[in-house]
Amino acid sequence: MSRFNTDSLFASEEAKGGLPCSHIIRVAFESAADTEFDYLVPDEIWPVKVGQRVEAPFGKANKVEKGFCVGTDIPFEKSFLAGGRGRKLKIVSNVIDEEPLVDAKLMALAKWISGYYVCSLGQVLAAMVPGGVKKGAGVKTQRQVYLAEGADEALERLKGKKQKRIVEYLRQKKAFNSESALELQGLLAEVGCTNVSIKKLAEKQAIKITRKTILKSLPAIPAGMSIKTDEIVLNEDQQKALAHFNAEIDSGVFGVTLLHGVTDSGKTELYIRAIEVCLQKGKAAIVLLPEIALTAQTVQRFSARFEKIAVMHSGLTAAQRNVQWHKIRNGEADVVIGARSAVFAPLPKVGLIVVDEEHEPNYKQDTAPRYNARDVAIKRAQLSNAHCILGSATPSLETLFNSRSKKYFSLVCLPKRVMDLAFPEMKLVDLRDKFYTKEGISLISEPLAEHLEKVLAKGEQAILLLNRRGYSNFVFCPSCRYTLHCRNCDVTLTFHKSPPRSSRMRTITGKHIDYGYAVCHYCGAQTLVPQKCPLCGAGFAMIGFGSQRLEGELAGKFPQAHISRVDSDSMAGRDYYRVLKDFSEGKIDILAGTQMLAKGLHFPNVTLVGVISADTCLYLPDFRANERTFQLISHVAGRAGRSVKKGIVFVQTFLPDQPAIQFALKNDFDGFVKEELKHRRACNLPPFWRLAGLIMRDRNFDKLQAASNAMREKVDNIIRQDSLKVTVRGPMPAVISRIQRFHRMQIIIQSPDAETIQRLFTRLRAEQAVRPAVKIAIDIDPVNLL
Ligand code: ADP
Ligand code: ZN
Repeated sequence: MSRFNTDSLFASEEAKGGLPCSHIIRVAFESAADTEFDYLVPDEIWPVKVGQRVEAPFGKANKVEKGFCVGTDIPFEKSFLAGGRGRKLKIVSNVIDEEPLVDAKLMALAKWISGYYVCSLGQVLAAMVPGGVKKGAGVKTQRQVYLAEGADEALERLKGKKQKRIVEYLRQKKAFNSESALELQGLLAEVGCTNVSIKKLAEKQAIKITRKTILKSLPAIPAGMSIKTDEIVLNEDQQKALAHFNAEIDSGVFGVTLLHGVTDSGKTELYIRAIEVCLQKGKAAIVLLPEIALTAQTVQRFSARFEKIAVMHSGLTAAQRNVQWHKIRNGEADVVIGARSAVFAPLPKVGLIVVDEEHEPNYKQDTAPRYNARDVAIKRAQLSNAHCILGSATPSLETLFNSRSKKYFSLVCLPKRVMDLAFPEMKLVDLRDKFYTKEGISLISEPLAEHLEKVLAKGEQAILLLNRRGYSNFVFCPSCRYTLHCRNCDVTLTFHKSPPRSSRMRTITGKHIDYGYAVCHYCGAQTLVPQKCPLCGAGFAMIGFGSQRLEGELAGKFPQAHISRVDSDSMAGRDYYRVLKDFSEGKIDILAGTQMLAKGLHFPNVTLVGVISADTCLYLPDFRANERTFQLISHVAGRAGRSVKKGIVFVQTFLPDQPAIQFALKNDFDGFVKEELKHRRACNLPPFWRLAGLIMRDRNFDKLQAASNAMREKVDNIIRQDSLKVTVRGPMPAVISRIQRFHRMQIIIQSPDAETIQRLFTRLRAEQAVRPAVKIAIDIDPVNLL
């Protein structure tokens, strides 16, 4: 590699005098525009490897920013300088990481995500590596000392007594290399010397000082909840499925299997067996779960079966994540279990990736990079020649469609519950005539209350679900139906019990409930719930429909029962473990809460499940509303009757004829799919067509409108020039047309295939159109339209 004529290359004056630089690297900045930048690397800090972070002057002000090295030895002619940008190359100031944080395969994955999801490579890389790792959270560096090779010779020249004492001590302790080095502070205390003597010894090259990084240890995973997992004999369906996974993993060829198994059909047991196969092949496995809530019990099951397991989820502190990450990278873990971002676990050799509850919208990240971890898992498996298992009782229509149409996709079904357990009995409660009772509004209908009474009498347990998504928790006036709205956002406010229990009010029905704040879930604005309806002035009127109200109602109706509420407001990770443990030990009779209760939990003594309102998803203006409703009812129903005791499920609804609810009650997945696909096909919606959304926002409505129209024009131009088969809708106000005082407009793009959408966005990016004058979010394969 020739040395560059630096004088003509250096941008900054001070650099001109002559740092020799023989290499050019490409850097992706987290904060930067949708492009990468080339830099010279001073020979004295070379080599820089792809995946390491560097610090480099950036922008007009030459502010030093951190970025990932994404390419090395870029030929001068091909560097972005030669690319005609008319800028001079700047010089990297510093290399941050000793080793690359991202290996070649993950780098390839990052580049795919950046391309597919239309976000900058720097942003993707930043999301791939946990913040705690980048900051080195919880890491202590220790200085250690050992005798240098020529120490004897140097010893002759030593005058100081203290220095001699140190050398003798090191010799006595046989500290002759970095492995046997002694910790510096301890040594000084032992010998009774100060840092000065050490410094002198180091200058005379009698000793060597090294730095060792020491990670804090992790809190152990709470002990399992008496779930026996050994000695399970797989049933026939499970055996067939395992044989299939065996063959797939054995082949070493990329493939995806949709494991469609009803709740309680033994899917998790199969994941475990498949992982065992994978480990025997000397490869590692990743298990993705939709959220922490779910991990509690499942993590315990996996940790009971695997020794070298690492856990990655948002409930960990930065330091804990850092420890886990290093454990994974150093090969001390061969099973990684975690939420969305665990798909980026730095395992060198991945043989299997399991995505449990693959239909969960939670796998989609809702900030840039807006990736779907399920789809990234498939891509990662492909890049690693690994197998990918997508498991669900209610597969997404996209995955179902793929399993029918793609070569590398197979479908394996587990149609029966383990040990031939019966499905729970499903009962519909029509709230239209059960909601307003003599005592007033009642979240727990009479049939449900009666059954709950019986269950409690028998010493069995119940789970009640109040899905909070949607508008289930708004604050409204029963007499005029006025609802409280946020002053900054176009949404209704959500009722929250205030921390102080002081502001008690009487409801219109004469019952006491706690009153508190109306909170906006989008901007966090709070107001006190007004004493009277601001519109009609009717007294004592505002009502919230949240899980807090449910808890209050339960306490009133079943004063003897032990009730616990579980939702993200009331639960921190550790408390959640505790509640689940108490519930499994029978210390809690009724568990009430939001959808985090619907998934993955396994409690044999639960014989009653109540869905307080099955409709909440249906009011959302989202084409997947039916699908979500079906999924929710099916999953929460799966919590009931997971043993020989028979289970019963009450589904309360104002829309008893709604097809999704009807199919869910009949436990008819195929029927639901057939009906829903008809509608999707007619409207060119997924899984038949692909979607992308562009959401633009600004506080100034006119500016926003102009920018949105300009964007539409650009899109139309490209479609015309390239004759793309694309339908464009908008710009139109987004579903939530204002958040935090930002007006929001959306453009929705539909196309029969992903390639066309890619082509369109590649062109838009090339024209820098993805960075208009207003703020923009690009969402490829959106899971909900906001
Ligand atoms: P899923 O993940 O489909 O809901 P799990 O794998 O959690 O199902 O299985 C449900 C319960 O049944 C677990 O307690 C599991 O240990 C147990 N189980 C799984 N397979 C069998 C089997 N073949 N025989 C008996 N019990 C089983
Ligand atoms: Zn708001």
